[in-house]
Amino acid sequence: MIISQENIQTLRGLVECESRNVVVLSHTNPDGDALGSSLAWAEALRKQGHRVTCIVPNHFPYYLEWMTGIDQMIIFKDDKAQRAHAAVAEAELIFCLDFHSLQRLDAPLSELIAGNTSAKRILIDHHLNPPQEFDVMFSYPEASSTSYLIYKVMEALWGAQSITASQAEVLYVGMMTDTGNFSFSHLTPDLYQSLAVLCATGIDIPQIYNNVYNSFTEGRARLFGYTINRKMKTLRKGTVAHMSLTEEEMRRFWFQQGDSEGFVNYPLTIKKMRMSAIFIEHKDFIRVSLRSRGNVDVNLFANRYFQGGGHKNAAGGKSFVSMAETIAHFERSVEEFAAEGLLA
Ligand code: 5GP
Ligand code: MN
Repeated sequence: MIISQENIQTLRGLVECESRNVVVLSHTNPDGDALGSSLAWAEALRKQGHRVTCIVPNHFPYYLEWMTGIDQMIIFKDDKAQRAHAAVAEAELIFCLDFHSLQRLDAPLSELIAGNTSAKRILIDHHLNPPQEFDVMFSYPEASSTSYLIYKVMEALWGAQSITASQAEVLYVGMMTDTGNFSFSHLTPDLYQSLAVLCATGIDIPQIYNNVYNSFTEGRARLFGYTINRKMKTLRKGTVAHMSLTEEEMRRFWFQQGDSEGFVNYPLTIKKMRMSAIFIEHKDFIRVSLRSRGNVDVNLFANRYFQGGGHKNAAGGKSFVSMAETIAHFERSVEEFAAEGLLA
């Protein structure tokens, strides 16, 4: 992946200047990539002398709490002091990382951002089909993570040697989690070269892995077993799977935010599986997560049937009907998709 020189010069113009008020934003239900890219970019901007506030719409999973700098992030949902309102109102630059549309922030944060019409909004992201709602767009769907994109931006602007160990650690989290510990698509030689640079800063890679993947609660392990054993249904001769979790079921296993992360990947460990879905009940809607193998395009599926999007092999959306209706809609949609030859 090559970032155009023109884009780099645009970015240089925006950040190599007198001190500015900057907001760095990421998406609802922030994951390792959202947090890693935001934290590393915030540190880079602070080094340039800017005043930076990082905002996420809601809480991050407990197993990412150890990430350096995360305690200074404003969690919009819990922001009693309204620090986010002040930071957004004063912002001259708003960086939007790891999401492609302001809609993904959900109201009222999306409205707050839309309300500041004088700040420049800069997108740095790797999701497909971003709408034209940013002043500057760095949209690279071929990047395996936004953290990798931020690495490439920093390398182009200030050289690889400028990257500190704390930046390397959080960027590694983003690159590792968005690629399923380096097992999904877009694993380019250049990605591994960037990993070599991160590794050379002295970060403890097995420790990072343990912090992220071996730090769950007992309830999460039991919920996982329950979901696969009791809730996984297969369709079309075992090539499509879906699972669902109601709020009552999650409570039974002392659910904490982030506990269902990764469940949707598991059916794809079955050799003939092409597509997997999980439906998670929330207060006002059901979150849909989709994964696929090879040519099966779940970005298209999410877009058509669940008002969502994402990437070709990992996407999501929402459903505003009951769980039973959501599942019935999914099963009908799978048949329609298959009839068009899109599940082959
Ligand atoms: P996850 O299943 O891990 O929540 O999301 C998988 C991918 O789909 C992520 O890249 C995420 O940004 C994207 N995604 C999830 N939910 C939505 C949604 O409601 N709308 C859009 N456009 N993308 C989504
Ligand atoms: Mn990402």
